[in-house]
Amino acid sequence: MYTQVLKPEELVFAVERLRAGHPIVFPTETVYGLGAPIFLEDAVQLIYKIKGRPSDNPLIAHVSDLKGALALSEDLPPLFYRLAEAFWPGPLTLVVRRSSRVPDAVSAGLATIAIRMPKHPVARRLIQEVGQPLVAPSANLSGRPSPTSIQDVLEDLDGLVPFVIDGGECEVGIESTVLSLCSEKPLLLRPGSICREALEETLSCRVDLANSSTPIQSPGMKYRHYAPKASVRLVYDRSQLKDPYIIPTAKTLYAQLRKADRLGWERIDIFCDAAVQSNAALMNRLLRAAGQIA
Ligand code: AMP
Ligand code: MG
Repeated sequence: MYTQVLKPEELVFAVERLRAGHPIVFPTETVYGLGAPIFLEDAVQLIYKIKGRPSDNPLIAHVSDLKGALALSEDLPPLFYRLAEAFWPGPLTLVVRRSSRVPDAVSAGLATIAIRMPKHPVARRLIQEVGQPLVAPSANLSGRPSPTSIQDVLEDLDGLVPFVIDGGECEVGIESTVLSLCSEKPLLLRPGSICREALEETLSCRVDLANSSTPIQSPGMKYRHYAPKASVRLVYDRSQLKDPYIIPTAKTLYAQLRKADRLGWERIDIFCDAAVQSNAALMNRLLRAAGQIA
């Protein structure tokens, strides 16, 4: 298959292919997504196949309006509306009970569904024009750093999808915050740029961080993620840095890790200064890249 790069104004071709059941890549404000219409089960299955994604790792549904969310769950709790009002469109994914209309493949057999309303105008128009929510995991091969530019996408998926829409560099650079509303108290499944404190302030209650002893977890968090080929060492004292090293930001981390791979680096030091250490989402990705959390 030949992969064609589309400009955002050529969206109509992408809409056509999506409706015919072919996954395509589109930009979001977090990272690039590999999308398929949620109610086309064969297209949803293709996403797992293209990425080499384990079938027990569920997908996030992307909606362009609240009606889209209502089509996926008959059981949206009051906290859902409060969070949607405060943070949507934006990089917050909410996990709620799912409607039986949602194909099993989307949720990898779970009784729940993860929903997000992206802010990126191209993502929003695409969802609107396809006329149903799009499931979209990050547009990388499973286990590789998430793509934040069209070059990153093509490095992994050239020849595997008919179209990729070029939306330039992603503004946020790391994946969305994932919050479950399916237990007694809201549970943070994946830290992201919308931080725990902001969620707590909006909800006026405590938000716990999921770990191996909480009943609900994000299946995706158990897989080796965000890892470059090089062995990674996190360094907290500048004088301990050895070459080659990088100084990460949320926006640039994945591009830097991909670059290290392209250059064939075998080891890489990552400098965690005070600003990096105070960014919970970035530290979460760094600890994973360094193999320090599972
Ligand atoms: P990705 O789209 O590749 O960033 O991965 C989506 C993340 O959301 C993974 O960590 C999934 O395990 C998680 N996720 C998706 N759906 C659910 C769900 N229903 N319950 C818990 N976690 C979910
Ligand atoms: Mg991913």
